[in-house]
Amino acid sequence: MCFRWKTCIYLSFLAVMYLSGCQTQPPPFKPVVTPVKPPTIKKAQPYIIKQLDHYTVRNWKYIVIHHSASESGSATEFDKYHRETRGWENGLGYHFVIGNGHGSKDGQIEIGNRWVTQIDGAHAGVQEYNHLGIGICLVGNFNDTNPTTNQMTSLTTLVEYLQERCRISSENIIMHRHFRETECPGRKFPYYKLLAQIARFQ
Ligand SMILES: [Zn+2]
Repeated sequence: MCFRWKTCIYLSFLAVMYLSGCQTQPPPFKPVVTPVKPPTIKKAQPYIIKQLDHYTVRNWKYIVIHHSASESGSATEFDKYHRETRGWENGLGYHFVIGNGHGSKDGQIEIGNRWVTQIDGAHAGVQEYNHLGIGICLVGNFNDTNPTTNQMTSLTTLVEYLQERCRISSENIIMHRHFRETECPGRKFPYYKLLAQIARFQ
């Protein structure tokens, strides 16, 4: 009886040790990740929103809109140009490129390396706007043509997302020509239509 009693205590002790984790390897360390509340997007572009939610963001103040002043293009194409011709080590000067169906898909939002790494853009020609401005380039020359409907839908979605995610006020959604001697993003760019579209969602 005495032997059994002792065995019983011993086995209970082992069971407690096992259950308390003393006999097993501690679980691998998992860093605590603070989830950022994803903004509420009314226009459905889940693929891009899912990707954008993935990145942490630093402090941004402006959203600067550009056109490429070319008929066609893509993030890869502009990246090559900025690296090889301009000699920019970080490549693509914009944070985002929105295609027009020539060189990249119509309305496709491409995320540039500078957004992934959250570094300054090289799109503004003015230090403050390169540092605090998120550069979005729409492929096309909007002195000659209008942006496509798909481009404007994507731009609205993207701007709305960035505004909410980065706490950017509407008066800081600006065109390149607001602070620089340039026609960019082209005389036909429907800036007020964009602002009205965004205001509808707020
Ligand atoms: Zn520009």
